[in-house]
Amino acid sequence: FQARLGSHGDATALQSMRTVRGNSFCVDCDAPNPDWASLNLGALICIECSGIHRNLGTHLSRVRSLDLDDWPLELVMVMTAIGNALANSVLTSIPRKILKKII
Ligand SMILES: [Zn+2]
Repeated sequence: FQARLGSHGDATALQSMRTVRGNSFCVDCDAPNPDWASLNLGALICIECSGIHRNLGTHLSRVRSLDLDDWPLELVMVMTAIGNALANSVLTSIPRKILKKII
């Protein structure tokens, strides 16, 4: 990851988040090309799942749009460091019902 970041919504930064391993599918429901990100999970999610995550409370689940929200470098680094493949491997080790209450 060597994107130069200056302005908000840097196309290179967004592209780097989309290309993290596993990020071409929603981490929750496997929908293709997710456009939203869960900062808690460090994973990309589809718009429908983003709505579910938002309803759980903004203090618990921080959801951002790849296209509409600003992406400071720190957040881009979090997202590219984790990604859906890693998030999935963590998620599958936690019972789903418990996880839904946490996230
Ligand atoms: Zn989804």
